[in-house]
Amino acid sequence: MDASIGPICQEDTLAQKRRPARVVPISDTPAKVRPQRCMPANQQRSLAGRYPLWIKGLSLLAFAWAFLGWLNETWFFQFNNPIWLNRYTEYVIILIFGIWRIVAEKNPYSRKRLIILVANVTVLWWLIPWSFPFIEPYVGYLGVLPAFPSLHTPGTLTFFLVLGAVFLFGRRVICGWNCPCVSIREVVGFPFRQADHVPRGPWAWRLRHLKWFWLALYLGAMWAMLRPANNTTTAYLGFFGLMVALPYFLTFFLAPWIGNRSYCRYLCPYGATFGVLNRVGSFQIDYNKDSCIQCGLCEKVCDMGIPVWHMGAETGKVDTSECMGCGRCITECPSKSLAFHDVRNLLFPRLHQDREWLRGLVDWQRSGTRWRTALFALVLAGALAGAWHYSGRIGSGAELINNLGTLCGLPISKQ
Ligand code: SF4
Ligand code: SF4
Ligand code: SF4
Repeated sequence: MDASIGPICQEDTLAQKRRPARVVPISDTPAKVRPQRCMPANQQRSLAGRYPLWIKGLSLLAFAWAFLGWLNETWFFQFNNPIWLNRYTEYVIILIFGIWRIVAEKNPYSRKRLIILVANVTVLWWLIPWSFPFIEPYVGYLGVLPAFPSLHTPGTLTFFLVLGAVFLFGRRVICGWNCPCVSIREVVGFPFRQADHVPRGPWAWRLRHLKWFWLALYLGAMWAMLRPANNTTTAYLGFFGLMVALPYFLTFFLAPWIGNRSYCRYLCPYGATFGVLNRVGSFQIDYNKDSCIQCGLCEKVCDMGIPVWHMGAETGKVDTSECMGCGRCITECPSKSLAFHDVRNLLFPRLHQDREWLRGLVDWQRSGTRWRTALFALVLAGALAGAWHYSGRIGSGAELINNLGTLCGLPISKQ
């Protein structure tokens, strides 16, 4: 084990020993102390902490603020404010709460994932399309012209690129690393991330099939987009938009009762699409029955309610459309019995993406980590430069000042 990272739970010290089936403690508390399902906020490790009511209230207010921003831009048209009450309001909230969430996260791999998630949402979903909007190549009739990068809009260039990436690396490339819909739930809904709030058990697992209804609606939307615009296609796309947006925002307020991934689990048409590619593509989680100590921790930490251990024991792998690749089950597994598997395993058969490997990715001492971080920064800088170039605003200092001023909420009118 990497000493610089430290144990996640006391099972670290027993990692290689097989033991009879029992639920093991999930915290750093001494073995004689009765195990808790949910730790105080400042002691949380693999499961989220308990937060006071005022923090939960603040989270619900932030959810309401994001909802109001969308309502103002699409229905109310009451406030002509560039940032505090429009579609980008949600991304501002993600940035603010994201910083808090990153600091609070104790799992080093999850912390790294959150940093990238919040950075991607801030740059790719907010700053580029808002400050330097340009229309990206697309096929069909989209209803609303897509400002690059339109990752969730079928028919756009980035949408097809995302589909290809999901096929090769799994749903995690978008659901784990680059989706604002899950971001706001992970950062603002963090106080509601408690193991006993996530519905588990056979009935909750069967309910996952609900998402195919939304996938069918989505296929209808794709069909409508490839047709010439007419009254029927326009009406259908309006209906589809409503069927996505209303559950999306309303499930914010169900988080205190059913956890913060209910939308991803049951109602997201995009997640259902990516889930299909999860199954048919290269992604799965490998499971090693021989080293597993049957502690059940992997199931407790999975916010998607996947019966990780049971599925692994039955089939020898965790291959499901539900897995959004957060990696928490792998990084918490005390016996390194779980490992990501994707296209890289076809190219490099000796690659083993288990807990040690994932934790190594966040070890700053390793040159690979520094190299990847530099590459990530370079790609983001390149995306910004590309957006700047193709938006045709090179040399337009007034535009830059205008956009930056608007970005800061200053009363400068957009050209
Ligand atoms: S399931 Fe949908 S909302 Fe959730 S992370 Fe994936 S694309 Fe985003
Ligand atoms: S695979 Fe799951 S049940 Fe088995 S040791 Fe790892 S965390 Fe425990
Ligand atoms: S199975 Fe593991 S990687 Fe997949 S969503 Fe659950 S915790 Fe995350």
